[in-house]
Amino acid sequence: MSHANLIAGEWVKGQDAVPNINPSDTADVIGDYDRASAAQVEDAIAAARAAAHAWARTTVQQRADLLDKVGTEILARRAELGDLLAREEGKTLAEATGEATRAGMIFKFFAGECLRIPGERLGSVRPGIDIEITREPVGVIGLITPWNFPIAIPAWKMAPALAYGNCVIIKPAELVSGSAWALADIIHRAGFPAGVFNLVMGRGSVVGEKLVTDPRIDAISFTGSVPTGQSILAKAAGRGAKVQLEMGGKNPLVVLADADMDTAVRVALDGAFFQTGQRCTASSRLIVEEAVHDKFVGALTEAMRKQVVDDARKPGTTIGPVVDQSQLDQDLRYIDIGQKEGARLVIGGERLNREKSGFYLAPALFDATRNDMRINREEIFGPVASVIPVRDYDEALSVANDTTFGLCSGIVTTSLKKAAHFRRNAETGMVMVNLPTAGVDYHVPFGGRKGSSYGSREQGRYAVEFYTQVKTAYVMQS
Ligand code: NDP
Repeated sequence: MSHANLIAGEWVKGQDAVPNINPSDTADVIGDYDRASAAQVEDAIAAARAAAHAWARTTVQQRADLLDKVGTEILARRAELGDLLAREEGKTLAEATGEATRAGMIFKFFAGECLRIPGERLGSVRPGIDIEITREPVGVIGLITPWNFPIAIPAWKMAPALAYGNCVIIKPAELVSGSAWALADIIHRAGFPAGVFNLVMGRGSVVGEKLVTDPRIDAISFTGSVPTGQSILAKAAGRGAKVQLEMGGKNPLVVLADADMDTAVRVALDGAFFQTGQRCTASSRLIVEEAVHDKFVGALTEAMRKQVVDDARKPGTTIGPVVDQSQLDQDLRYIDIGQKEGARLVIGGERLNREKSGFYLAPALFDATRNDMRINREEIFGPVASVIPVRDYDEALSVANDTTFGLCSGIVTTSLKKAAHFRRNAETGMVMVNLPTAGVDYHVPFGGRKGSSYGSREQGRYAVEFYTQVKTAYVMQS
């Protein structure tokens, strides 16, 4: 089945199409997804611009009703959307259904936020004047999303953009266009005016590039890799557009000697390996106090041995395949680099064969690593984690912060004092105590520091910063 792009309220056939392949079974083609031409992206931009004035002036109730309708349909179809997501991306059915549910809840949350767009009224320092500070839509927003959360990331960019009165053009990752297309279909049928929401699928170098460089796009919100994010920043900010970037992580999880060992293993296993380790918040550096090092590595290795790596949609699978051949090659390359750097591969790291042909990789754990090794500096983005032994808490904190990234960090400890100290001193946008570094709520801000993020936070009420612009009005009292 073919899937067209949504431009100006119409489904428009692309210049060519690309098959969407199931990473659990490469013989399974989910469908063909059209690639928009540069001219079609221009049409989408023109349609969004034409719709922007009227959409910005809709009532908050009109926008709330439309977003609520989208959220209701996503939630009603969460099992079906979860199945599609698991089939195209390779996360397990439970993980994928959870992600679809999250997308529905995000639309519901921002339906409510339509009714709570904040403003302020202040007195002037001069007599007889009132000051009113209001938030207005930014205009037309270009959204560029990655393959690892095919429905949640599009949802957490689209929903606030639309809620605050902006028009949207989204370019999803070509690898996983299915979930974004299904979401676009739901939005289209909900009854948004033509041009308010547009979907243009295709290559980043063509479709994404056009969104980033076209002066009619007022803002770009991007999630993906560091090099792509940095090149987008240079181009989009260079022409004066508003930019928000969420990029990689090299997230530390500190395990202290006083940790509850069951909690430590559960938290590390989930954070490092679930969703096949393909999360920007994954715990890729396990920083462990020497006193519990052997016990922790032994228990984590045992837990890893029990994992079932198989077809994402097969009952009993706990870890699905890697998303595609090129990501699998990247993971295997880093497993090789780690061994050459002198790290000890404790378990996993080999390609696995299953009933169907897919990109299966045994989750890999390195031990005896140093924080200056490449496997601990660069984002691998697969089911690969390293143990870095440290003497004490002070060294653990210093190693945790010794990275160019700053997305999320975690600590497992029973010491209230050390947990509080870590929370205050971890140089990351998010911090977890006795919880995995990955796995966050939908109603609170998400984002990092240092090389992980740029611009204001995504999600929760903080999304208002990016998707609105402030106006200050001075009014002479009559
Ligand atoms: P990219 O950063 O290349 O892609 C993210 C999005 O940007 C995709 O939609 C992509 O399009 C688009 N894009 C690519 N080039 C351009 C461009 N020149 N202008 C505008 N948009 C562009 O990440 P990948 O998906 O290729 O993954 C590569 C690596 O990135 C992974 O191995 C992982 O290390 C990291 N990554 C990190 C994520 C995170 O959340 N931290 C998420 C995903 C990946 P398309 O791919 O369709 O061509």
